[in-house]
Amino acid sequence: MISTPWGGLRVADAHIHFFSRRFLELLAARRTGLTPERACEIAGIEPPPGEPESLAEKWAAELDRYGVDRAALIASLPGDESSVSRAVAAHPTRFRGFYLSNPLAPDAVDRLEPVAARKALHAICVFPAMHRYSIADDRAGPLLDFAERSNAAVFVHCGVLSVGIRGKLGLPSPFDMRFSNPIDLHGVALSRPNVKFIIPHFGAGFFREALMVADLCPNVWLDTSSSNSWMRYQAAPITLTDVFRRALEVAGPSRLLFGTDSSYFPRGWNQAIFDQQTAALHQAGADAAAAELILAKNFDTLVG
Ligand SMILES: [Zn+2]
Repeated sequence: MISTPWGGLRVADAHIHFFSRRFLELLAARRTGLTPERACEIAGIEPPPGEPESLAEKWAAELDRYGVDRAALIASLPGDESSVSRAVAAHPTRFRGFYLSNPLAPDAVDRLEPVAARKALHAICVFPAMHRYSIADDRAGPLLDFAERSNAAVFVHCGVLSVGIRGKLGLPSPFDMRFSNPIDLHGVALSRPNVKFIIPHFGAGFFREALMVADLCPNVWLDTSSSNSWMRYQAAPITLTDVFRRALEVAGPSRLLFGTDSSYFPRGWNQAIFDQQTAALHQAGADAAAAELILAKNFDTLVG
């Protein structure tokens, strides 16, 4: 439980990146001569313990410190599936496993099959701008079929994409925003009514489009995570309170998922985001029942 403007409430964080040792190895391998230790030094992050179970323990203790009940842990590069699945296996009720996948990679489904077999697959995260395809492209079909068979949600990153740690490490980010419009998800979500889709960060700049898709597709959820700095791109000035008010009007309280986008230590769980979002949600007029849904219950519904 955390104290909120509505009193003590249970909280689940739908968006935490699990920066494992393996993740840092995969990232460091992208620049000649870069080691995971050096990458941590440059990025100002505490080197994670070698075993994912130890990092899971660290996150569990961190969440205990703040009173956060449950969380999604995101494997943030293909190839890091085992770190998150081991963390989930160590804390099967507390953590849910989300995995970044590139549907264009020939081994996309093969990588996730063992995770599903271990019951540690709860969502597949796709980043069409990062891997340069449209979510409506037929080539994404086999991965979406697999998500449907495995009863996994599909998190589709839309809008502006900047990966903080890549920037700090000087790694190239050859993303292509042509593929980041939530409108591309419209037909896909309609044709797969049994799959639950999540658009993070309210569409990260495509707020209007994310609302349109959420309005037309009852199987589309919006996640509230990060500082939502995309608000500075809006044609007319908009506040986080306005964002919550509009999202409540269109998607309603049962399709919004609270998240912070926390990722590394020593910062740990980003309480400032929680404070900003709960204040904005309260100002937007959400009652206690709506807050309970957004802060925890929707997460339970979506990923069990
Ligand atoms: Zn994120």
